[in-house]
Parts: sequence; C-alpha cells; structure tokens
Amino acid sequence: MNTFPDHQPLLLYHAAQLVTPIGRALKHGRDMGRLKIIPDAAVYIEGDIIKDVGSTEELQKKYNSGNMERIDLTGKVILPGFVDSHTHFVFGGYRPEEFIMRLSGAQYLDIMKMGGGIQSTVDATRKTSAETLFNDGLKRLDDMLSMGVTTVEGKSGYGLDRDCELKQLEILKRLNSEHILDIEATYMGAHAVPRDYPGGSGAYIDFMLKDVLPLVREKNLARFSDIFCEEGVFTIQESERYLRSCKDMGFDTKIHADEIIPLGGGELAARIGCVSADHLLAVSGEGIRMLAESDTAATLLPCTAFCLNKPYAPARKLIDAGCAVALASDYNPGSCFTNSIPLIFSLAVIHMGMTIEEALCSLTLNGAGALKKADTIGSIEQGKKADIAVLAYPDYRFLVYHSAKNIVAMVIKNGKVVSNRLFSA
Ligand SMILES: [Zn+2]
Repeated sequence: MNTFPDHQPLLLYHAAQLVTPIGRALKHGRDMGRLKIIPDAAVYIEGDIIKDVGSTEELQKKYNSGNMERIDLTGKVILPGFVDSHTHFVFGGYRPEEFIMRLSGAQYLDIMKMGGGIQSTVDATRKTSAETLFNDGLKRLDDMLSMGVTTVEGKSGYGLDRDCELKQLEILKRLNSEHILDIEATYMGAHAVPRDYPGGSGAYIDFMLKDVLPLVREKNLARFSDIFCEEGVFTIQESERYLRSCKDMGFDTKIHADEIIPLGGGELAARIGCVSADHLLAVSGEGIRMLAESDTAATLLPCTAFCLNKPYAPARKLIDAGCAVALASDYNPGSCFTNSIPLIFSLAVIHMGMTIEEALCSLTLNGAGALKKADTIGSIEQGKKADIAVLAYPDYRFLVYHSAKNIVAMVIKNGKVVSNRLFSA
C-alpha cells in the first residue's frame, strides 16, 4: 500500500457526525450495531491513509500548519465508503422480457430450463467484445461510486467455458487498474452447468479444476472461487468437492447457498471455512447455528429477494444467533438488475428487521470482512485506507428515512475527492 503522499494532506472538519464500526475483523451478532459516533468530527488524511480521527477542536489544534486541503463538512455525515461484496457486473445483454415473465408467475428455475436465465447472458457475453464489456464496466463502476461504493467484488460466470471466463476476469483486472474503485475478482465458472455439457455437472467440475482454475491462478486473475449450490445446478457433494479443491489450489472460497431450496449450503460453508455464504433465503436452523460459530460471513442480498418477489433472508435470526451479516447488491442482469445501495438500506431496515446501525456495519466493515479486507478498509480509523462517503444530511439515519434515495454527496477514494455533488436536498 502506498503511504507516501502524492497529493496534499486532507483535513475534513466540522462534520455533524462521523459514524463507523471499529475493528479489523468481521463483527458478529449484536456487536454489529455498536458503532462509534463522533459529533463535530474531523478526519486527517495523508496520502491514501487515515492518519487521525477525532473532534474538530482536537484535530484543528494538532494539524494547524503546513500545506493541506481543508473541507468544511458542516451539516454532513462522514461514513466509511461502502463495500459491495457480491456482484456480477461484467456481462453482455439484458433480460427485461424474463423480468416481466416472472412477474406473471414464471419461476426462476423454469426460466433456466427454457434456455433463459444465466444461459442467455452467457450467449450474449460470449458475443460481446472485450472492449464493449470494459466500457460498460467503467460506466457501471462510475454509477457505484456515485452511491458511495469504494470497493466492489465482481464475478465471472457468464462464459462457462475457458476463454470467455478468462475474458471476463481479464476485464475485471483492467477495470481495477484503470478505474479508481478497488475490485476484488471472483472466478465463478461454477455459475451453471453449460447447456448439453457432455458428462454433466461432474464432468464440468473436472474441466474447471483441470483446465481453467490453474490458468486463473497462474495469471493471478482472481482471489476467490464461487459456486452456485442449488437444486438443478450443483449439489452439496459437488460443491464440497469443488470448493475443497479450489482451496487446495490457493483460492479463498464463496458459495451461493440456500437461495431457493435449503440444501445445506450454509452448513457446508461453515464446515469448510468459506469466506462467505451468500443469499441464505432458505437457510436452516442448523445452518444458522454453524455460521454463527464460524468466521464465514453470512452475505444477504435483499434486492434479489425484492426483484424476485420472494421472502427476505432471516437477517434478524442470523444476527440474534451471532452470525456476521454482510449486505451486498447481487447486481446482475437477471435476478437482480439493480446496484442500488439506498434500496439495500431501505429493504434491510424496513423489511428484514435490521437496525440502521447493523445495516451500516453490514455494508462497510462486514462487507470488507466478506472480502477478507477488514484489516485495511471498512471503517474510519487510524491506519486504514481513506475511503469515505459523505452524506448530504446531518444524521446517518437519513440513510433509511430518506428512503431509496442516493444521499451521498461526496466520495473520497484513496484520500482524494473523486465525486462531489453537494446538492440541495
Ligand atoms: Zn450472485
């Protein structure tokens, strides 16, 4: 990490509130709601690192000489930048017709069997040039940034072969180097079994393990490997074999678990030490108990349940049992074509029984934990990366009170102001 300032130090001061979880690891259970709140707050930043945090009075005394940029944030709230730890944002084509079909009663697994679903995005992504995918990716990242997202995870999984999967991962790598947002890449060839694959799911797993993952490793294209464990996709046994092999190859693992049918994906994630188990709409009591005792993040994706008109994941039960809950968008062209951070806040608090404080922790420190980055991002404290979102209002509770509205007025990434749209609300 670059700690040498390549721009002037920055002092943010007179913020109505600074609100942040504190820590360098996932927060579990009720600890998620314990945030640090500093009134009339200030933050001092050198290079891309937070050097000091405190009251305006205290920091103005300490840092009163030398060249520095100063920003008066009277009437605004300082928060850690949001971490969206589960997205599929590099894809070709859109699927509006499927969305409408679903509204008239068609089920997701039925749509997949009809050749819709993931397979139609696979066909479109294979046909789309790398340049187009890259340029669309840039626009989507700009949009995320405007909502205060400073780190995002992106998955492959719309190639289901060798070359198009690698193409997506190469694009994620290029986007990471050319866009200010930090991107953590996940190989998700195990998103679906390719249509008419000879030998079926078992043979396809063998293919990924033998022909694709070694290349992903060699080219250093992804830190994580992920699988869609679901009835009609990959079984628990296949998921376990696959994820254990991925771990042996040096990947950190994630799993799309218990989204539709309670197959035991939550239990599997806890047992083998996945970094996160994602979805969990249908997680069992045993799955909740095992996740609570593990260091696996329980990543909930409320916008997917919203778009599919399904019951939400049992956030309250998970938190009360002691799980470390993260929230993410699941941005993708099928089941959840939205990346709206404001919508996540509203759904989590109004419909899932989370407190605003828990939701805030889930989108910052626990989002970072779901990417194994909680030691460097996800909170505002000395030594962490200066990734900050500034709200246009003087109270963080406007995140939900001003429902489904983007109230992020300014974003600071790597210690620099990269988005500034202070507006009259
Ligand atoms: Zn997903």
